[in-house]
This record gives sequence, C-alpha cells and structure tokens, in this order.
Amino acid sequence: MGKNLSRKIKNCWLEPDICKREEVFDFCSEYIDFLSECKTERECVEYMQELALENGFIPLDTFVKEGRKPSRGDKILVNHRDKALIMFVIGEESIEKGINLVGSHLDTPRMDLKPSPLYEDQGIALFKTHYYGGIKKYQWTAIPLALHGVVIKRNGEKLEIVIGEDPGDTVFTITDLLPHLAKEQMEKKASEVIPGEGLNLIVGTIPREYDSDGKNIKGSKDMVLELLKNRYGLEEEDFISAELTAVPAGRAADVGLDSSLVGGYGQDDRVCAFVSFKAIMDIKDPQKTCAAVFADKEEVGSMGNTGMQSTFFENAVAELIDLTTGDCGYLKLRRALSNSKALSADVAAAVDPNYSDTHDKENAPRLGSGVCIEKYTGHRGKSGGSDANAEYMAMVRQVFNQADIVWQSGELGKVDLGGGGTIAQFLANYGMDVLDCGVPVLNMHSPFELASKADIYMAYRAYVAFYRDMK
Ligand code: MN
Ligand code: MN
Repeated sequence: MGKNLSRKIKNCWLEPDICKREEVFDFCSEYIDFLSECKTERECVEYMQELALENGFIPLDTFVKEGRKPSRGDKILVNHRDKALIMFVIGEESIEKGINLVGSHLDTPRMDLKPSPLYEDQGIALFKTHYYGGIKKYQWTAIPLALHGVVIKRNGEKLEIVIGEDPGDTVFTITDLLPHLAKEQMEKKASEVIPGEGLNLIVGTIPREYDSDGKNIKGSKDMVLELLKNRYGLEEEDFISAELTAVPAGRAADVGLDSSLVGGYGQDDRVCAFVSFKAIMDIKDPQKTCAAVFADKEEVGSMGNTGMQSTFFENAVAELIDLTTGDCGYLKLRRALSNSKALSADVAAAVDPNYSDTHDKENAPRLGSGVCIEKYTGHRGKSGGSDANAEYMAMVRQVFNQADIVWQSGELGKVDLGGGGTIAQFLANYGMDVLDCGVPVLNMHSPFELASKADIYMAYRAYVAFYRDMK
C-alpha cells in the first residue's frame, strides 16, 4: 500500500489485531439489514427509536413531564417529528462544559412524488416526481424502484406505505429510450439526457373500462385510482398530504469475491448514522455528556424544521440544562454549545480507479484505509465549508492514535473540480469545534453506493473512542 505515494497510508485488512475479520463481517451483516430495511429518514428514526427504547433510553418528554433530573448514565431520546433523532448519554461533568457530539444525516437522494402526481399519457398511468438531492438523473432510469412513505388521509389517519421490497412484490420504474432511437439523445450532455420532468414512474397500464362508442373512456389512471381506493382507502386528493418517495428496490449486499464491500442504496449517510447509533448505544457512564444527532434535509442544504439549520438540537440541549440545573439561562446554553466537540459524521469520496484523475492522490480517501477525517470540505477555495482548527485536529488525532484506530486524512477531490458540504458548518455556527469524519464511499449519490466493511467497522470504533476519550 502507498506505493508511489509520498505519504504513508495503512490498510485495515493488514492490521488483523485491530481489524478482526470475523468481528468486521458480523458488524456489517447487521448494517446490511439496517440498510435494506430503512430507506427513508422516517424508517431510520423508527428503527433507531425502537432499539434505543429497548436499551434503556427514555424520551426527553418523560423527564420534562415528571420534572425528573437527569443524572450520570441516564440515556435520553428526542424524536423530532419522526424525521430527526437525538440520543444523549448524560456524563459526570456538567453539560455547560460541553457535549461530545457525533452528527450524521438520515435523508438520501431519491425521487419524491409531486403533490399531484398521478396522470395518464399514451394509455399508461404514471406518477410525476421531483427529485431530491444531487443526482445523475440517468442513473435512476430502467431500474426497479420501490415506493416508501406516509399518507395522511382526509380523516387524519396516517397510512405507512412500502411497496416493492418483499420478494414477489410489484415494483415501479422510470423508462429510458431504446438505443435504436437514441441518436439525438446520445448527443446531449449527460446532465440533459434525462430531463427532470422525464422522471415519471410507471404505475399502471390496464384501462378501467372501454366504452364502445369511444366516449367516457375510463383509462389506466382510473384503474390506479380504483386500486388505491380498494387497497389503501386512498383518494386522489390524499396525495397532497403525503410524503411518498421512490427509492431503489431490494436489499443491500456484499460486493466482491472477498465480500469486502457493502453495496446498497443510501449509504451517504446511513453508514455514518448506523455506526454512530451503534457507538452511542455502547456508551455507559461517560465523563462528558455524549450525544448523537441524526438530522434530516442535509442533501438539500439542511433547511427545514428537521434539518440541522433548525434549532431542534439546541432546544433539546436547553431542555436538558433546565432539567439539570432548574434554570436554562441563555448563557448556560451558549456555553454548553460553544464548549462542545463534534464529529460531523458524513461520508468521504474514495478514489475510484476508473476516475482516479479526479483526486489529488496525496490527499485522496482510500477504501480500506480506515475512517477518514477531512479538515475541510467546500468548493473552489474552500467556500462553504467548515475548516477545523489545527488544535482540534491534533486532539482528534491523539484520541484515535491512543485507541488504535486506523484512520486516514483526505480531501473531497481535486481543487476546482467541484465540491460539497456537510452539517459541519451548521454545528460550527455554535462556536463548537467540529471536524468531518466518516466512511469513504464509491458511487456516491447513485442507486448503489459502495463502502468497505473495514472502514465501516473502524468508523464505529473511532466514534466510540471519541465519545469515551475526547476531553
Ligand atoms: Mn452526506
Ligand atoms: Mn450527500
């Protein structure tokens, strides 16, 4: 490893004492189940909340209602509108001295149904979509898609829908043009090959009834409406109060003859979310109060009331301070946030052998070389990124080295080629120290992302060490 490189880089698989293969594979088989079952932020929150409650976490509301004072070792859960989650483990030191925080996001690129999605064209019933997040649109055609989400009916009843995941389930798809007729399409730029308004899902082709004189034809849209009514009790207007989304159907899987990789949809950022969830579940009686925040809306700029730009996290910290000290003074809250230390747990872009020119090889994250720390993200002159202090880099590096974590340092890619951001900048707004730290992936934002099992496991160990040892 590291041939032709000026810097030294490790490979987890060559560190058998640190990266025990059986442990790594067992850990990742649970991760593959999570990734296969949880494809929306709501499904992730439900999964995590259920396990957390089984493992001694108590909703913050319960503490507030009972006026109960949290003490060291207490585990506290905040479910924010079923789309974002915070888990706290109360430490020995006062919260004002700061929290050790690991923040990830649960939302992933996908095809959201429009508020009025259903129409018929050429005898075929389709759902219109508006894509969510940064995608290469051509990757989402001609693959099986499943429909996930919720609908709130006229009477207020909430219906949860998952169609297309069980073996034998029907699926949906977006069509693409056959190569035989694609001369004009193939000459277009890749960004224009599939227009946004062309991302329509096929939902039905059987007409409801033919009228012999050609009047009053009830077509496939009517048939779909009838099926929705009969199967789910839905009427057309119910789509207005729904969050339905099409995502790649089917399970995540091992990849490679050596099964060293995990392949699946939504690993940005469910890999860091799962791993930080596992880490905080393992924390007992910490010195510092520990928190894991699982945010929504990162892929669209962290806007909205469930995104990291909303105040849901600081509100929860204010509640905790109020419960512990009987007074949530403004200053105490500001101190708690400003004294905190955070890892922005988000994926890094690993160097791809098919496109290795996009990375500066001396600063490229590599599959299998451990959890990746990125001093900054952003684009073109570090714009829009949070740039961690050298002092904080040194502290994280020391914690990881002392805990025998295999870690690597990386940049998103070559300067001026593009860029991106994470929730780091919004945590940094509180004045806290924050560093991007996560799992390198290939195929980012595609329907089938790849991550190394060794890096996944190492990220878990890194977050545990951070919670336990960061002063
Ligand atoms: Mn991400
Ligand atoms: Mn992303």
